[in-house]
Amino acid sequence: MTSATATLLGAVTAAGIAGTAWRLKSLSASGAAAATLLGIVASAAGTDWAALLVLYFVSSSALSRAGASAKARRTAGVVAKGGARDATQVLANGGAFGLAAVAMLVSPSLWPAVAAAGALAASAADTWATEFGTWRGGTPRHVLTWQPLAPGMSGGVTVVGTLAMVVGAAAVAGTAVALGWPASAAPAVLLGGIAGAVADSVLGATVQERRRCPTCDVSTEQPLHACGTLAPVVGGWPGVSNDAVNAAATGTGALVAVLLMSGT
Ligand SMILES: [Zn+2]
Repeated sequence: MTSATATLLGAVTAAGIAGTAWRLKSLSASGAAAATLLGIVASAAGTDWAALLVLYFVSSSALSRAGASAKARRTAGVVAKGGARDATQVLANGGAFGLAAVAMLVSPSLWPAVAAAGALAASAADTWATEFGTWRGGTPRHVLTWQPLAPGMSGGVTVVGTLAMVVGAAAVAGTAVALGWPASAAPAVLLGGIAGAVADSVLGATVQERRRCPTCDVSTEQPLHACGTLAPVVGGWPGVSNDAVNAAATGTGALVAVLLMSGT
């Protein structure tokens, strides 16, 4: 199979998977378009890249759906965007992986692969922590002050979520090795993923904008609260959304994985 044929096949597969996710309401229309684009770039970089992305995407989507009604009840009125992921969310989580795939196309070496796996490991670690934490984790605590937080608020951590975070990063590192990527990179990918997820929690607890609904007198990440009242920013840096924090976290995952790998 030539690389052009593989890329074409990858494009069709990516569109099929993204279309299915759109029908299942895991992705919005813009989210499906962004996911298809990521799939095409990954397919061009290699079948192993495409396989890693698909396994990440399918497992994350399945985790999001598991216990969805219980999680929606627990985080109702708190999380900024529930349900279908839009293009901004897809690119905040997958953009670093996509850039690494482009770098692989321009100049193939171990480094883009390590960066891509580190970024994906960070994203998986954060997703697993969030999904398991809000589903089974009990009351989260603020990552820095240890004060109890409402489930779904950024910066909250739970024991279950922290264990899931490590497993999520390990799953990506292990899958990359299973797909033939060098086993020597696995520790760097695992630790990069954990570093990225920790960065996500710390940034979420500090610089990410915090909002409060004056009518209900509760913290929320929704600019327009579920009750219909505008919720003004009461803390953090205005404009630093959860998507911006996710992008910084996946970038941290890529960077830490590359730095650790270069040190070995
Ligand atoms: Zn309200």
